This record gives sequence, structure tokens and C-alpha cells, in this order.
Amino acid sequence: MITIKSQREIELLRIAGNVVYKTHQYLKPFIKEGVTTEELNRLGEEYIRSLGCTPSFKGYEGFPYAICISVNSEVVHGFPSKRKLKNGDIVTLDIGACWKGYHGDSGWTYAVGEVDDDKKYIMEHTEKALYKGLAEIKPGARIGDISHAIQVYAEQHNLGVVKELCGHGVGTDVHEDPEVPNYGEPGTGPKLKEGMVIAVEPMLTLGSPKVYLYDNNWTVDTQDGSISGHYEHTVVVTKDGYEILTGEM
Ligand code: MG
Ligand code: MG
Repeated sequence: MITIKSQREIELLRIAGNVVYKTHQYLKPFIKEGVTTEELNRLGEEYIRSLGCTPSFKGYEGFPYAICISVNSEVVHGFPSKRKLKNGDIVTLDIGACWKGYHGDSGWTYAVGEVDDDKKYIMEHTEKALYKGLAEIKPGARIGDISHAIQVYAEQHNLGVVKELCGHGVGTDVHEDPEVPNYGEPGTGPKLKEGMVIAVEPMLTLGSPKVYLYDNNWTVDTQDGSISGHYEHTVVVTKDGYEILTGEM
């Protein structure tokens, strides 16, 4: 069921989203060669809690960590570990925070030190694909319009669209209806209405979009080992467009 959020609910979602944004900003300077992903998870969890929120993903369907940290070819749901980030890696931090029962969700891919042109390319164009999708959002548009815009942009840039994973509604549950796929036909799917809150999150690969699941039953990686990017914002549909909730307030 797709819910329309009240002004009061949007205010709570705005606070949760802003905590997610601030956690990204807080962690950025720590993303350096030698830091372990476990350390980034610990710092992020402490920071989220210091702002009076709880990490949305910890315990979500049994996910054991506060933050999903995925390195290079890992697409999503990476487990924080003793792995040390190296100069030239890319790392995606997917962060969720819950404020008074309402969630924010935003993933972002970062460069560790100096990265090669392929990594710059996947980062630049996956981020741009996110904004191409967001640009479609207004009352009366359909989910398929967002999906299609992302797919077209990805294909124009020779990037693979991971089809097994998609965006979603956000509210009292971090994953609600509707699904927001990163491929599809314009003019199809649920109609957007003012007060709907969705997370749009292209997950693109430099090679084949085929993925597989680790034995931990969570982490998704590319089958061919090609690098992947992931950029996500939670947004609310407004009277004439959208407002990013996981950004600066
Ligand atoms: Mg999400
Ligand atoms: Mg996310």
C-alpha cells in the first residue's frame, strides 16, 4: 500500500533524512586509506545515536550492522569488516536513520584517495542518473517515468543497470511500497501524488549488470567483478516537483 504522508509526518521524515545527510558529511573525512570499514560503521552508528536517532538498518530483517559498506564491485549490503580501504578504492556508504519512528535512507559512493578514470566515470554517471530520475518527479508523473529516465541515461553511458534491486517508498518502514525500479517504461506504474515519499537509487555497473549473493545472504556483488556505483536520495513529492529529504535542511 502506498501511503500519503501528512505535514507532521513529512517534518519527522525531514529530520530523519537530515540526520542521514549529516552522518554522510561526518564520515567523509574518515574515508581514507587505512581505515577499516568496521571503524566507519562504528563512527557512523555513534554519530547517528548522538543525534537521538537509531540506525534503520541495524537488525532490519536481521542485518547485523548500522551501515551497509560496499567496496569496488560490491553493489549493496556490504558487511563492515576489518578490511582496510586502499588508495584507489571506491566505497559506498548506505545509511539509514530513524527519528520518532520515521526513516531516512541515502547511499553514496566515495573515492578513497586518487581513483582511476573508470571509477571516476562510474561515480559521475551513476550520480547523474540519480538526478535524471529525480527530475521526473511531480504529481501526476508515474514511477515508470523515473525508472525509464535512469535506464536511458545508464544505457547512453554504456553502464549496466542492476535489475534485482530497486528504490522504494519510505516512511514508518524504511522499505515501503511502491518499488522504484531503475529500468522501465514511461507512463507505467503507480502515479505520483503530493506527499508520497520515495527513495530513488540507481545501482549501475561498468560491465555486466549480473550480480550474485555472498554466502552471508546479504552482500550483492557483480558476477564479472566490474565496479559499481550507487547513489540514493529519499525525496517527498511536492505540489510542483520534489524536495530532497536526505540533504541539507
Ligand atoms: Mg534504499
Ligand atoms: Mg539505502
